[in-house]
Amino acid sequence: MTRVTAERRLTALRELMATKGLDAFVTTYGPNVRYLSGFSGSNVILWVEAGRAWLVTDLRYATQVEEEVPGDVIEIAVARDGIWEACRDRVGSLSSVRRAAFEGHRLAHRDAQRLVEWWPIEWAAEGWVEAMRERKDDAEVEAIRTAAAVAGSSLAETLPLVRAGLREADVVAELEYRIRRAAPEGAAFETVVLSGERSALPHGRSGTRALRPGDLLLIDFGARWEGYCCDITRTYVVGEPEARHVEVHAAVCGALEAAARTLRPGVEARAVDAAAREAFSARDLGAAFLHSTGHGLGLEVHERPRLHREETRGLAAGMVVTLEPGVYFPRWGGVRVEDDYRITESGAECLTPTSRALEALGGTAVISP
Ligand code: ZN
Ligand code: ZN
Repeated sequence: MTRVTAERRLTALRELMATKGLDAFVTTYGPNVRYLSGFSGSNVILWVEAGRAWLVTDLRYATQVEEEVPGDVIEIAVARDGIWEACRDRVGSLSSVRRAAFEGHRLAHRDAQRLVEWWPIEWAAEGWVEAMRERKDDAEVEAIRTAAAVAGSSLAETLPLVRAGLREADVVAELEYRIRRAAPEGAAFETVVLSGERSALPHGRSGTRALRPGDLLLIDFGARWEGYCCDITRTYVVGEPEARHVEVHAAVCGALEAAARTLRPGVEARAVDAAAREAFSARDLGAAFLHSTGHGLGLEVHERPRLHREETRGLAAGMVVTLEPGVYFPRWGGVRVEDDYRITESGAECLTPTSRALEALGGTAVISP
């Protein structure tokens, strides 16, 4: 991470600490540590006070931490034994710290206990780095854009291979292989490939079912680039689509576009969800839309904000969100389409270049995998 980025993010955190009356903030949570310091390893404690910041990790990361963290902004310590013991020694008596915060929703109970036992100061169990992460800077958006381009081209290379007879797991392997070659950090999350009636499982896991002619094929996938995730879903048909496939797919794309038209700074998150829901209801598909319309994404594939039907918080320029409307019919199948958008000053920009078209994949010839 550059010195400038680290300074900007630590300054924002320190301003937040000042408004809450905190002298220190400690995090061990990987995505938050990476956001604030650039360090991408595990087993780390990042400690921030008004006048200094330091992190401690272990010997396995001695070289990596020097490469990733701007040492003139954040002091680097490498522990020979435990990082918590090193933290205790470094902090000492904490004479200047009266009120400190750890991330109660992230820190292991045993580690929170250590902090409270070692230092009889007031611990405010807050968590706001996630809120800071909502609005992305240009470099973060570019990383997501690159992840989306890489994932899209990997999918484009995979689709010609899809045939009846391949199993869901084969399609996962073919796609993830290509993602990993193009993006060294690999898939952003476990790729989901669901076929036939299994595509009606909104949270299904890929299995060994072999694709058959006439199957819907739902693919939910993403790549990670410089830590940042994209999250894309496409639905296709193995062989020729039926009229109902075309009709439902068009309805899902219509719901996505209706939601996308609402995206702009200031709009309540629930209004985005409502736009997708109304588009489905207008086609009598409202009852088949079983989840929220979307979510933020960045260093994690699910971040704030959530585009949920009760979420009244407003969107802001710089946020990156997915829109993922879908409808699911047991024993028939499901159709979901998902794209990623950056909220701009005046609206939104789609970051995922992959066509949404309902392609007919692989003809009807059955081959062995
Ligand atoms: Zn997804
Ligand atoms: Zn998603």
